[in-house]
Amino acid sequence: MKFTFLTLFPDLVRPYFQESIMAKAIERELVEYEVIDIRAFATDRHRTCDDAPYGGGYGMVMKAEPIARALESVARQGQRVVMPTPAGRLFDQTAAEDLSSQKELVLLCGRYEGIDQRIIDRYVDVQLSVGDYVLSSGEIASLVIVDAVYRLLDGVIRAGSLEEESHSDGLLEYPHYTRPEVFEGMAVPSVLLSGHHREIAEWRRWQQIERTIHVRPDLFERSGVTEDEVEILRAKHGGTDGSDQGN
Ligand code: SAM
Repeated sequence: MKFTFLTLFPDLVRPYFQESIMAKAIERELVEYEVIDIRAFATDRHRTCDDAPYGGGYGMVMKAEPIARALESVARQGQRVVMPTPAGRLFDQTAAEDLSSQKELVLLCGRYEGIDQRIIDRYVDVQLSVGDYVLSSGEIASLVIVDAVYRLLDGVIRAGSLEEESHSDGLLEYPHYTRPEVFEGMAVPSVLLSGHHREIAEWRRWQQIERTIHVRPDLFERSGVTEDEVEILRAKHGGTDGSDQGN
């Protein structure tokens, strides 16, 4: 899969592709990336990419012409142009899964007050918000989207670990522990040391349910978990510790 960034700040984006799991995915040719500097497509002496808004108001707006030229320079069959914006549809795990089936995503990164609407009308396929808050940069939001998408590609991460993560089945993830068994007087829940795989799976399921009810009741409502299951698991595991209750 290819990620093509259109940005005024290429140096904000490049380091992300040079570290950790992403760097390995690139080395193994599971991921490709390209970073295009929109400013290189401005034609005036000062390489101007923003201007005051028509109708007045605060801030500057990213100009249409350099962005249009930049987009035309990378236009290819089968790519989807994604623009992060707080005015977009909320980006979630389902949207990440949907985007992970694409051949190429073009990430159009906004700055200032945003991008001239005519670019959005002509070129943008999907507008996504990474949350109900305002960042100063589309680069950070685009990297959030890319990070959630590329890890779903075959071969990037062990398949089993994706299946058990938060949001993969509509619930938040259960808590994790590793050595030592006792840390500053806090012991690992004994069930995890028992070796009983069914008991462990049940306890983890209960932790997921309890945490989701407590931290994200909205998700729990939609999860499809039945009252019966909650009652059975609460009766058996309700008294055991281990949930961080969203800390
Ligand atoms: N004037 C815009 C508004 O009120 O909707 C905010 C512009 S923001 C300062 C600059 C850029 O950051 C946006 O063009 C967008 O690319 C990005 N951005 C900010 N918050 C975002 C969010 N919650 N989700 C996705 N992108 C965001």
